[in-house]
Amino acid sequence: MVDLNCRLFLPLALMLVSASPLSAQPRHAEAHVHGTGLLMMVVDGSTVSIELTIPGSDIVGFERQATTPEEQSSVENAIATLSQPTGLFAFTPDTACTVKAATAEFRAHDDHHHAEFTASYALDCPGLAAGDVELRTGLFDQFNRAEALNVDGLVDGVAQSGTLTRQQPAMTLR
Ligand SMILES: [Zn+2]
Repeated sequence: MVDLNCRLFLPLALMLVSASPLSAQPRHAEAHVHGTGLLMMVVDGSTVSIELTIPGSDIVGFERQATTPEEQSSVENAIATLSQPTGLFAFTPDTACTVKAATAEFRAHDDHHHAEFTASYALDCPGLAAGDVELRTGLFDQFNRAEALNVDGLVDGVAQSGTLTRQQPAMTLR
């Protein structure tokens, strides 16, 4: 009986142990890790929603309001690049995506010592509706200070997570 109980309850216990650190850690904007951005993604059939958060140091090399014309133009250029998701993300097999919405901004808070770029995208990619899908990013080619992007996703209701890096800029989604 003891053996049976162990077998039944161990998987549940493991689930509880692995789930609790996540729920116990609220995400603070100031707790980001330099060099690592976050990509939250939901894929539902052909519909893709992406939320991107990347430390300012990864994109423009500073984390405060731009103070010189050069810094101001760095921020504007970065926002322009981040506003074009099809230049930053693509899928394998190759799929043409229509951009339904795309916004990007730079948030610097004077009372924090960090600043971030955030972007959100809504895409329609008919080729994603079925079959194997790989996500790849050109982010590291666009921003030479960025090193990694942690991915948390929900693909047709199935949780997917992984890390895109300069060395490995692609991951399987389905
Ligand atoms: Zn920072």
